[in-house]
Amino acid sequence: MSDVVLVVGEADGDGLAEPTREAVTVARRLAGSQGTVLGFVAGRGASGRAAGFAAIGVGQVVVADDPRWDAAPPAALARPVAAAASNAGAFAVVVGGSSFGRDLVGGVAVALGASAANGVTEAERIPEGVRVRRPVFGGRATEERRLEGGRAVLSVRPHAFPAAEGPPTSLRPEPAPNAEPAPAQLAPARTAVAAASRGAGPGLADAAIVVSGGRGLRSPEGFRLVEELAEALGAAVGASRAVTDAGWRPTSMQVGQTGRTVSPQLYIAVGISGAIQHLVGMVSSRVIVAINSDPSAPIFRVADYGLAGDLFELVPALTAEVRRVRGS
Ligand SMILES: Cc1cc2nc3c(=O)[nH]c(=O)nc-3n(C[C@H](O)[C@H](O)[C@H](O)COP(=O)(O)OP(=O)(O)OC[C@H]3O[C@@H](n4cnc5c(N)ncnc54)[C@H](O)[C@@H]3O)c2cc1C
Repeated sequence: MSDVVLVVGEADGDGLAEPTREAVTVARRLAGSQGTVLGFVAGRGASGRAAGFAAIGVGQVVVADDPRWDAAPPAALARPVAAAASNAGAFAVVVGGSSFGRDLVGGVAVALGASAANGVTEAERIPEGVRVRRPVFGGRATEERRLEGGRAVLSVRPHAFPAAEGPPTSLRPEPAPNAEPAPAQLAPARTAVAAASRGAGPGLADAAIVVSGGRGLRSPEGFRLVEELAEALGAAVGASRAVTDAGWRPTSMQVGQTGRTVSPQLYIAVGISGAIQHLVGMVSSRVIVAINSDPSAPIFRVADYGLAGDLFELVPALTAEVRRVRGS
């Protein structure tokens, strides 16, 4: 039986994004000590990015160094990724839990005729394939799936696994097979990528602490209380859909089913009721703190710590205390 696992690398500047390093951790566990983890990178400067794999000990990297891939939607990469996986005889393809990874999983699975799962928090090799576990129903249950039938394709839930570290190894790049993008795959072409405004703080996806605000803040001006607390903590700012729908803050800040999924060490929900569509985006956070004036709000059911009271009193007091303790 093959012991090769392919990891698709996502770019972050000239290097590899954090979710890719988490995917490498999963791939190593699946491949086992005798197996091989194989990297895959595409786009402009992919050869340079392959060095990011070598820096964390993955020397064998399939490279599609072609700038046209940068303009293509992630799903268009499914064909060369599947070709590389077939060529190497990989029994699994693992991608990070970003939107890039989630967009890719379905296409790669179809191209390989493989089973697939998104957002896994556990993955284990079994004789029939790969057994995975992942939270479902907003974290109220854990689903176990057996991905059988030869090959498995999976994306990893953000922050569920540590990012892979070295030791570095020497890079052994090889050209990707079947890596000529077909014109139809490049449509719709991406003509520009504008970074979402995120102020001076950390981005939502990688932040160790996220402070999110909801309708309870009453207005765009009221929402400043959340931003001040986030600033004092060095946290990223999130929002419920009530806030983004009202136009108080951009949709790039939305956490939940139709927004971002976050799994920080600490998630503080301010004036958020805890609708299921919000919970699915944050319930795997390590510690959840809720501030809400309604003691029966559903958010308290998933919170580790709850402050039942008026946010307009509690949040400024909390911010002042954080500033005092941190001397800022
Ligand atoms: C298909 C679909 C997809 C969706 N996707 C998302 C999504 O991705 N993300 C998302 O968030 N929602 C999503 N929603 C919407 C979701 O169902 C809720 O409507 C939304 O999350 C509610 O936002 P909220 O908690 O800010 O507002 P509310 O539910 O109105 O809650 C406001 C809370 O503030 C509290 N509050 C009020 N005043 C104070 C005060 N002075 N001090 C303290 N607390 C106070 C209240 O007690 C209340 O619990 C989706 C809905 C659908 C149908």
